[in-house]
Amino acid sequence: MATYEYQCAECGSFEYHTAIGTAPSVGTCPVCGREARRIFSPPSLVRTPPALASALQREEASRDNPAVVTKTPPRPHRPREPHPALAHLPRP
Ligand SMILES: [Zn+2]
Repeated sequence: MATYEYQCAECGSFEYHTAIGTAPSVGTCPVCGREARRIFSPPSLVRTPPALASALQREEASRDNPAVVTKTPPRPHRPREPHPALAHLPRP
């Protein structure tokens, strides 16, 4: 279910809940019964998790001021010994 918003010229805006992608462009005002056109408003950005909001800000900032990389990052340190679980694998 998604929430869609409509604007009645007489009564103001109201919300309509229906499945995603099934909202008509023109709705019926629940108060006066007249046609109401669908309006678009931003989603509830307040509920965006902080980690996602931070990632979105970095992505948007990188459009105009991308971080330039001049060399590959160092490889992570890996232990020289094989993982102990590999010892239990069948041998040819
Ligand atoms: Zn109305």
